Amino acid sequence: MLTETNIADKNLRDEVRSWLSENWTQPKAAALTQHQPMWGASDELKSWLAEVVAARWAVPRWPSEWFGRDLSNAQAKIIEAEFAAVKAPGTGQDRTNLWANTLLAGGTEVLKSKLIGPLLKSEINMCLLYSEPNAGSDLAGIRTRADRQGDHYVVNGQKVWTSGAMTADYGMLIARTDWDVPKHLGISYFYCPMKQEGIDVRPLRQITNESHFNEVFITDAHIPVDNMLGNFNQGWKMLQTALAYERLIMGEGARGPRGGNKKAKDEEILIALAREAGVLDEPKLRQQIAQAIAYKKLNALNSARGKADIAQGESSSLMSLGKLAMSRILHEEARLRTEILGPASMLEGSDYPRAEDANFLTFNAYLTSIGGGTDQIQRNIIGERVLGLPKEPEVDKKIPFRDVRAS
Ligand SMILES: Cc1cc2nc3c(=O)[nH]c(=O)nc-3n(C[C@H](O)[C@H](O)[C@H](O)COP(=O)(O)OP(=O)(O)OC[C@H]3O[C@@H](n4cnc5c(N)ncnc54)[C@H](O)[C@@H]3O)c2cc1C
Repeated sequence: MLTETNIADKNLRDEVRSWLSENWTQPKAAALTQHQPMWGASDELKSWLAEVVAARWAVPRWPSEWFGRDLSNAQAKIIEAEFAAVKAPGTGQDRTNLWANTLLAGGTEVLKSKLIGPLLKSEINMCLLYSEPNAGSDLAGIRTRADRQGDHYVVNGQKVWTSGAMTADYGMLIARTDWDVPKHLGISYFYCPMKQEGIDVRPLRQITNESHFNEVFITDAHIPVDNMLGNFNQGWKMLQTALAYERLIMGEGARGPRGGNKKAKDEEILIALAREAGVLDEPKLRQQIAQAIAYKKLNALNSARGKADIAQGESSSLMSLGKLAMSRILHEEARLRTEILGPASMLEGSDYPRAEDANFLTFNAYLTSIGGGTDQIQRNIIGERVLGLPKEPEVDKKIPFRDVRAS
């Protein structure tokens, strides 16, 4: 028997399917796959995203006043499945667009009106201005300061490991706005304009020989008061929302090899590599490959469960579990590739793409185990919030930040 929900679901599926068949044309798909800059979106992608946003497919779970359709999670998944079936990007941003989700959760009406549209269309580039030379895992120890002067804040300090800062138009920034309260209570959260005189971005070189992240020196930079997210001095709460989105994204997947075979699934690559190297029949290796594949599938299911349970703007400790699991999986996959290749994994250069991929993935696995909070920090979160273990002692938690000793 057809229920009202079944009918609504069928209508929705028909609607999205017919929209895609009219709009997601072969030339568009081809242009999008040909032009994929490492940083920022290509013009082809931006113009496609503008169509997706205008048709209200980008953030179907969101309210209609903000480009959404007020749909349930189950209905939004119907749309995601139809987009995935034809390999069209752009929907599901109500889960995956860290910048837009954080802005929707805490932004002023002025800022939301100005930036949510461009964010969904990838028209502006963003970065995260959190970590400082002496505040990484202990982010509440930040010393970058923001002082109000009339209708704006004046910011001074230094950030580090800022991915994408070179091209960013805005940075999601945490800064200290009150030195006379304990460390978690005197932080505010901002959208900081990056293209201004007071911001000096200097690239750092990574172990992968790339330069994606930077040091950012901030001297008398200005941020309009409307660019504060959440309330004054309550930036820590806003940060938890943003970090939960980041962990969700990092727990879901990771970057593939730099120039390698991106079309095949990771599990297929492991099996193909072992076959090619003539070691697919080795029982121990077969077992390890099967285990890596099983962990990955299990983690995808676990992340899906975590996502289904959380409401917009909430965080879930399950995301820490997903991120930690993904980090371990990536290290294990890279180790397995190296083991399969044996001594050949020591070769490098374009003549040895298998070894290039294995080595790149070995180095790049650290991205997920450090960025967005290290594995050890995820373990702390899981221990305290999931397993109910006692909290780590924090000697400086309750004293005014002004009295906390700087390292
Ligand atoms: C690829 C990449 C991209 C990044 N991008 C950004 C970005 O865009 N913006 C940004 O702001 N930051 C970024 N970061 C920084 C990242 O968030 C920090 O490196 C991370 O939070 C760890 O901080 P830290 O480097 O200061 O290490 P520390 O906090 O000094 O930690 C050093 C070691 O001590 C361990 N440790 C620290 N405290 C504890 C504890 N309480 N319990 C157990 N172990 C502990 C850590 O796990 C780690 O092994 C990025 C990092 C990477 C690797």
